[in-house]
Amino acid sequence: MGKIIAIANQKGGVGKTTTAVNVAASMAATKRKVLLIDLDPQGNATMGSGVDKYAVENTCYELLIEEKPIDQVMIKETTGKYHLIAGNSDITAAEIKLMEVFAREVRLRNALAPVKNYYDYIFIDCPPSLNQLTVNAMAAADSVLVPMQCEYYALEGLTALMDTIKKLASVVNPELKIEGVLRTMYDPRNRLANDVSEQLKRHFGEQVYRTVIPRNVRLAEAPSFGTPAMYYDKSSTGAKAYLALAGEILRRAKANVAEKAN
Ligand code: ADP
Ligand code: MG
Repeated sequence: MGKIIAIANQKGGVGKTTTAVNVAASMAATKRKVLLIDLDPQGNATMGSGVDKYAVENTCYELLIEEKPIDQVMIKETTGKYHLIAGNSDITAAEIKLMEVFAREVRLRNALAPVKNYYDYIFIDCPPSLNQLTVNAMAAADSVLVPMQCEYYALEGLTALMDTIKKLASVVNPELKIEGVLRTMYDPRNRLANDVSEQLKRHFGEQVYRTVIPRNVRLAEAPSFGTPAMYYDKSSTGAKAYLALAGEILRRAKANVAEKAN
């Protein structure tokens, strides 16, 4: 059964898109079938997948507003070897138009239903706000992966975000789970980062991934070459960290299945 994971945090610049692109590529490299959905009008995940956001014919707009069948809006050639539904500034219009349409919260969920079981993993790169698009992502997802930086007030921000996710989920998707909390742009020499990291583990326990994403310039450079880090510099600490994260997600999924069976 395919799993849909929304990558969300209403804060910008915490590593959502970097995580979406690199975890999708890492998962695809393990021979899983992967779809990435770029729900952000900035279209960074699209560009980072080697697809020109200015030249694409179809985006999430056509999927959500025009209700074009998903195989017609899908792009199958990406540098990360996953399939992509592109995002660009048209999505801003989609956000507004969603207000006027029927069943506006479940447009994405309905659009994904026909392909959900074809893919092993579907990742959704959310915009940095809690708008109607993020609501659609939460309604469609099985779980939410929250990337965060270990800095001042990170814990407060995260607690507030978790509350919001819970409230939202109680309305649109009571089954929604927290997939995990991911520490991004981590600098182990920074004492504050270490302190926050310890607090995080105390508060959120097993929900915090063991895998930590280090601050690594290769992760920041790769998008300008239109590629995930593993195809830009596979020996970089950033590329390796995202491969490790994919491994951890797979191991957790296996463990959960084992738990359920008992
Ligand atoms: P978001 O999608 O949450 O806004 P991004 O993934 O776009 O965040 O990351 C914000 C900026 O930080 C980008 O310029 C990105 O290249 C850079 N970045 C993200 N993760 C890392 C990292 N681990 N190391 C170095 N730079 C990073
Ligand atoms: Mg982003």
